[in-house]
Amino acid sequence: MPHYEFFCKACKKTFEKILTMAEHDAEKTACPHCGSHEVEQCWSAFSAVTSKKSA
Ligand SMILES: [Zn+2]
Repeated sequence: MPHYEFFCKACKKTFEKILTMAEHDAEKTACPHCGSHEVEQCWSAFSAVTSKKSA
């Protein structure tokens, strides 16, 4: 199962989530830390985003 990395713009934390195609398409991902939907997906090319704020 593919997993995706997300970055929460509300609490500045990253998290990973396994998404089905349906869930991914719905884009209803919520941050598990604060529950915000202000999250953006970090594609594999940007998976180095951990603590550094490079972008
Ligand atoms: Zn959050």
